Amino acid sequence: MKKCIRAARAVTLQDEAGLTEDFALIHNESEILETGTWSEIKDRAPADVTDLGDVTIVPGLINAHVHLELSHIEGKTVQGQGFMPWVISLLSNSTYDIQDDLISKALASMLESGTVFCADISTNNCARIAELMDESGMGFYGFCEAIGQHIPKEGGAFFPSKTYPLGRNAGAGHALYSTHAEMIRALKKADSAANMPFSIHLAENEEEDQIVAEGTGPFAQMLKGAGLLADCGNKGLSPVAYAHSLEILDKSTLAVHCVRVSESDIKILADTGTNVCLCPRSNDFIGEGQAPWEKIINSGINTCLGTDSIASNHDLNMWNELEYMLKKIKIKMPAQDALSLITKNSAKALMIDEFYGSLEAGKRPVFATVPASLEDLLFQ
Ligand SMILES: [Zn+2]
Repeated sequence: MKKCIRAARAVTLQDEAGLTEDFALIHNESEILETGTWSEIKDRAPADVTDLGDVTIVPGLINAHVHLELSHIEGKTVQGQGFMPWVISLLSNSTYDIQDDLISKALASMLESGTVFCADISTNNCARIAELMDESGMGFYGFCEAIGQHIPKEGGAFFPSKTYPLGRNAGAGHALYSTHAEMIRALKKADSAANMPFSIHLAENEEEDQIVAEGTGPFAQMLKGAGLLADCGNKGLSPVAYAHSLEILDKSTLAVHCVRVSESDIKILADTGTNVCLCPRSNDFIGEGQAPWEKIINSGINTCLGTDSIASNHDLNMWNELEYMLKKIKIKMPAQDALSLITKNSAKALMIDEFYGSLEAGKRPVFATVPASLEDLLFQ
């Protein structure tokens, strides 16, 4: 059945379109059929019109990096002390004993704030979390994250092949220091064979720098003790350069964090077409510093945002992630570019731009409303 949505303003992110005043779209259950100004399309509008009033609507938001598996660890980790103290505090909890009700509650709050798709990372519970995401109505990639040395023989064993109306499972590597190099390459290959993106935490903190370059340090010792230290060290390379040497950086890879990247690392990411997911509030929460946002964005890298888990953030609200960044970033970002960080760019990075990322015919009929608190920040 056809319906019409009307709003005072929209940023559709179609091509170079800016702000459209007196916007309307006609849609059915599965897709947008037509967009334009109300005066352009009102003659064809169905009887069922929802007028949202004096608001700006944008494409449904995408959270490009979250760990719903850690929903029960809210408020149970240390803040601002760096990565290793944070990991120790994380692991002092029953890390993978998920609580379905808390995951469903987190999903409800994400949907409530306008997020319609998420790239979730799960180490031990990816099949169950995919079911919970499916039940909630969230679109998703349920990334099954591999940690350690174990290498399954077949790509198909990396993640369940079951598909959902709005989601699929895929494979992800945890990080260069904790996932065996052969495993990382095999995961990347399996995702590519299934035409899906690959995700990995990359260049997040100084512990990673030290392990990849020298194979040493207290964090390396800790990983070794747990049987999780990957054979990545003592190469004298930066994490990005080492990842490049594994041939896993390309336009279907999502490199998450990229806090500690040099000019030459940024060039590698840009030249290979690698997508970068920044997690500004998570990096701040843990005390890892701030990624060179301006250099990354100015280099032309397709950049998007994720909240990371509630164990390293205050909420899973993408508007809050964007607001935090816009208040600190030192370059002027036009509203379309800023909004693309949580919509269009994320859709491209996750290879879902056929269905998400802009308000235009053929895409899913999902949108978000710009909170009043962000109107000035975006459109001033
Ligand atoms: Zn993460």
